[in-house]
Amino acid sequence: MTDYPGQAAPRDFWALTCDPLRECGDGEVVAAIDTVSIDPGMSGWITNKRSYMPPVKPGGVMRAFGVGELVESKSDKFAVGDWVTGLTGVQTHGVFREGHLRKIDASLAPPQKFLSGLGMTGFTGFFGMSDIGQPKQGETVVVSAASGAVGSIAAQIAKAAGARVIGIAGGPDKCAYLQGELGLDHAIDYKNCNVGEALAQACPDEIDLYFDNVGGETLEAVLGLMKYQGRIVVCGAISQYDDFAGAQGPANFMSVVTHSLSLRGFTMADYMHRVPEALDWLVPAWKEGRLKMREHVVEGIEHFPDAFDMIFRGENHGKLLLKVNG
Ligand code: NDP
Repeated sequence: MTDYPGQAAPRDFWALTCDPLRECGDGEVVAAIDTVSIDPGMSGWITNKRSYMPPVKPGGVMRAFGVGELVESKSDKFAVGDWVTGLTGVQTHGVFREGHLRKIDASLAPPQKFLSGLGMTGFTGFFGMSDIGQPKQGETVVVSAASGAVGSIAAQIAKAAGARVIGIAGGPDKCAYLQGELGLDHAIDYKNCNVGEALAQACPDEIDLYFDNVGGETLEAVLGLMKYQGRIVVCGAISQYDDFAGAQGPANFMSVVTHSLSLRGFTMADYMHRVPEALDWLVPAWKEGRLKMREHVVEGIEHFPDAFDMIFRGENHGKLLLKVNG
């Protein structure tokens, strides 16, 4: 890490280095990191724009959520062999304070699931939809980036609540997955149609609830179709992440006033204290086959720059992960 380019980070912005591990002190552990999560939000961690976390220090280890196994422990809370998750960074090994990591039960599911539907993105879809969106039987719910890590969980939660769910995703394969695998009522391939027209056709009774992952033109199209007193959960705006400074709001923002809409943003940090509640729902739902979660795994830490680019081109299908220790 040398400077702050955000999503536009060129290849030579990243460096793969081999550095000695510092010694493990009292209350610390050493983890062999297995897999790290590649998230759209990483672009916000390498900009100087005001955000919910400070940027990564130039020259530092790129921040990332990861899972790994402990190979040394000087902590009463952890033993060698424990599987853990937390902000491990994009590295194969690391020394961490015990409070920095959370133990995971690797007997419940393969560790990579704890970065996917049973991890931060799953929790985001779960709380964003169930706690903020509160979908109801018979409502029309629209989810953008619906085949992705957060969107797929959010969409399935709305479906489980009895809503009619329309997913928006890029390309025929992702749309087939939304209807075939996830059982959504309708899918819109925004890359191959006029999204406003397609939404108007798919939502003849207008939209009660929109779970927004992308912002931009899709948000504008949805705003024009929201029901009086409709709700919008603002989870992300990936279409705007390449130009934080130049991002434009929707031209029809006044719909919020004219239709008495509620918009509520959030970050998962607001819900960290409620993670056990999410797991209580997500784990059995996944084990019983009521909840689908899919991962897209790239192998090799040296491929981090490619994986980082992939997510902004929509080349991932499922939670994008990077296996760093083979
Ligand atoms: P995904 O697994 O959904 O991957 C990102 C997807 O976004 C891509 O595959 C692509 O799918 C779509 N996409 C990329 N560029 C664009 C674009 N310009 N316009 C429309 N769609 C685009 O990622 P996540 O599930 O991890 O993240 C989804 C959203 O949730 C992001 O906005 C992210 O920042 C946000 N988020 C928010 C959190 C919070 O705490 N509030 C926590 C985690 C994530 P397609 O092929 O369909 O275009």
